[in-house]
Amino acid sequence: MAGVSFKGVTKIFGKDVKAVNNLDLEINDSEFMVLVGPSGCGKTTALRMIAGLEEATDGDLMIGEARVNDVPPKDRDIAMVFQNYALYPHMTVYDNIAFGLRLRELKGFLWQIMNSAEAKKIKKGIDDKVNDAAKMLDIDQYLHRKPKELSGGQRQRVALGRAIVRKPKVFLMDEPLSNLDAKLRIQTRAELIRLHRQLNITTIYVTHDQVEAMTMGERIAVMKDGVLQQCAMPEEVYNSPANMFVAGFIGAPPMNFFDGEVTGGQISCGALDLTIPAGHPVLEKEGQKVTFGVRPENIYAAGDGGPEAAEGNTFTATIDVVELLGAENVAYLIVGEDKLLATIDASVSLKNGEERQFVIEMEHTHFFDAETEEAIR
Ligand code: ATP
Repeated sequence: MAGVSFKGVTKIFGKDVKAVNNLDLEINDSEFMVLVGPSGCGKTTALRMIAGLEEATDGDLMIGEARVNDVPPKDRDIAMVFQNYALYPHMTVYDNIAFGLRLRELKGFLWQIMNSAEAKKIKKGIDDKVNDAAKMLDIDQYLHRKPKELSGGQRQRVALGRAIVRKPKVFLMDEPLSNLDAKLRIQTRAELIRLHRQLNITTIYVTHDQVEAMTMGERIAVMKDGVLQQCAMPEEVYNSPANMFVAGFIGAPPMNFFDGEVTGGQISCGALDLTIPAGHPVLEKEGQKVTFGVRPENIYAAGDGGPEAAEGNTFTATIDVVELLGAENVAYLIVGEDKLLATIDASVSLKNGEERQFVIEMEHTHFFDAETEEAIR
């Protein structure tokens, strides 16, 4: 096993497409790291550079202590699982899983001596590895089947099995769950976490799905336009986003943002006039424009178990639309010229068109520099 580091790594396609821009990122030995960001942010390119499928234009790529920029993919000791599992359709599950091992471990044996004692021992070793992996992934009852006789989730597990048996130093996974339906995705997500706990192999997992990132990653690295925005544990990225992009990308429904101004300990944004929590560094921005952010779950209907309604944390809004989600409702609110989203407990009755009071949990709000969009914290 080994950690993986990007040291000032840049990848430029053609003349000027900077897919990855001066990336510094250290993935610890046996860590589960998720690279997340919108389409085109460079996460797949970063992963492909670790695999050796793309060459870095600049910087150093390290696996363990070794610089691997010039090491061919086959010598990097990594295994990659993709969204398209690409199993061999004419082979059984068993053969699909064993294929890579046979190629590697038996390639020196001519068919005439395949039955030699040494070859038999290797075959037995391969057989054990395939059976162990199949048991671990709960596909041991399908070993004789062909891929077309399996469900999507089972096929994905065969692809994982093929990667596991190689016992690589590093696992690379590129959106491996996106072909599965919602229920199976949640189930397989949990299986992958369990598998990682069992095998402890450094895993780098790429997804555009922030829920997947938040639930799976020990740490998550958020990327945008080839640039790393923040790398931290999921709770930290959620509670202390480094900038407006991260704040808006992580969390669903997304954070509400308002243009505001700091005046006399208050943040004034249109019809909202709220008291900034004592000691917050944004208080030093007196008279300056800042962006105020509040997550939908930090807004409560007054009297709904949230903070006590008081001057400085309360506003009156018109309920535009209410979406029922089960345990919670998403309310689209109108305050003066502004719109915002609030997730409100389903036990609270909200009526379209009704006007009522809402309370903001001010100590869980966020402030960003209006120009740089960096968090003020
Ligand atoms: P997605 O989630 O859509 O796969 P991504 O975040 O993984 O996106 P990449 O595939 O890494 O993004 O692409 C990053 C940027 O590099 C994009 O602008 C893409 O168009 C560009 N790019 C990727 N591969 C190539 C290539 N072979 N030639 C030219 N440009 C490329």
